[in-house]
Amino acid sequence: THFGFKTVPEDEKEHLVKHVFSNVASSYDYMNDAMSLGIHRLWKDHFVSKLDPGRRAGGSPLSFLDVAGGSGDIAFRILDHAAKIHGDHESVMNVVDINPEMLAEGEKRSKETPYGNTSRINFKVQNAEFLDAIPDNSQDIYTVSFGIRNFTNIPAALATAHRVLKPGGVFACLEFSKVDNSILDTLYQQYSFNIIPLLGQVLVGDRDSYQYLVESIQRFPSQEQFAGMIQDAGFTLAGSGYENLSFGIAAIHTGVKL
Ligand code: SAM
Repeated sequence: THFGFKTVPEDEKEHLVKHVFSNVASSYDYMNDAMSLGIHRLWKDHFVSKLDPGRRAGGSPLSFLDVAGGSGDIAFRILDHAAKIHGDHESVMNVVDINPEMLAEGEKRSKETPYGNTSRINFKVQNAEFLDAIPDNSQDIYTVSFGIRNFTNIPAALATAHRVLKPGGVFACLEFSKVDNSILDTLYQQYSFNIIPLLGQVLVGDRDSYQYLVESIQRFPSQEQFAGMIQDAGFTLAGSGYENLSFGIAAIHTGVKL
């Protein structure tokens, strides 16, 4: 009786369920583009080039961990950057997400990249608060992009990030943040509370999810508060610990495990 497909024969039902989930994942991309006018792609590109991941001359291959990696957006960019900029064709990407359907979408997409079906990338269902399949001191870079806001216990996830990173490892987070200019912020709040739920309703018939999105952004701590939480988890910040993107609509936070 799940999904109201009670009267649909078994084989057709499976097909419908798949259709529903791939719909969710593809509309996710479409909505990101619609809401941000494609700017989330520029933020992600900048996030990865700033991090500059890749094996250095004479160094060993690295282990990357992308948490809440869903569709593989960040994972593929990191492997591409490592190859293009550092000639690194050996470092390995571990993609984890709590949602098996999002992860399946990422795995499906990986087949269209040079890394699909190779040992360069793997996908695991994991809760960021525990990461129980990831050993202590095992990762060189931990990334989380537009994910941490959704975690139930953010301090637990940060402590876990610290646990799984090697000494010298880098934590990097891309997330919505607070707009640093009051006039722009007024416009942004108008857009968020009036337009985004409407776009959700009109474009994908889902107002509630987009209402939730706006509220979760509102609830998330400020740049300074979040930098303090990263420090509390044991990380060392460089400078303020963050960089604003598009006036603080999003921000990149980084910390090093010394
Ligand atoms: N990283 C991708 C990006 O930048 O486009 C996907 C971000 S998507 C908005 C948020 C993801 O966080 C979802 O795939 C969701 O399943 C995942 N997520 C939420 N809570 C989680 C948790 N506790 N542990 C791991 N992943 C989680």
